[in-house]
Amino acid sequence: MLRQSLNKMDILAHGLWTYAVFHKKKYVWLAALFGILPDILSFGIIFAINLINGSLRRGPPQLSSLPDWLFAAYNMTHSFIIFFAVFLLMHLITKKWFWPLMAWGLHILIDIPTHSFRFFPTPFLWPLSDYKFDGISWATGWFMLLNYGALMIVFLAIAHNRVKKRKQALKNTKKYLAHGQHRKIKG
Ligand SMILES: [Zn+2]
Repeated sequence: MLRQSLNKMDILAHGLWTYAVFHKKKYVWLAALFGILPDILSFGIIFAINLINGSLRRGPPQLSSLPDWLFAAYNMTHSFIIFFAVFLLMHLITKKWFWPLMAWGLHILIDIPTHSFRFFPTPFLWPLSDYKFDGISWATGWFMLLNYGALMIVFLAIAHNRVKKRKQALKNTKKYLAHGQHRKIKG
């Protein structure tokens, strides 16, 4: 259960970081979706299956108990090679760059230093190379504190900027109205 809920936390942090990075873009919610999709399409499916079967268990899942397709799905969703190929292919088909997809690349970038060899290191060069980086697991206590602490600061800054912007807009409107009033009296 711990690992299961931790997996959800991982997805939560991915969603929050993606939102933070893309928050000024119109497509922020679509980006947030692409930011969590790599994990939804791999571990999310396992989670859903276990939930339906009522077989959610405590502790990290045994690697040997995980089906082969999960490893294949994880390779595909966590590879820069596949990401670039899809990004390029979409450009060739639509003649436009589909920017929300960059959130997928960001997901892989975040995963590389935050997974250790103990549990699903990021296969970011698959299928060209088997090279993986032995990072710090995001589930490490102090790292989680740091991660969510940083997220809190970033979201406070975003909220602060939004309030500031709104106040400025209100000020401008008042100025504009006052100016209009002044002109009316004059005329
Ligand atoms: Zn991931």
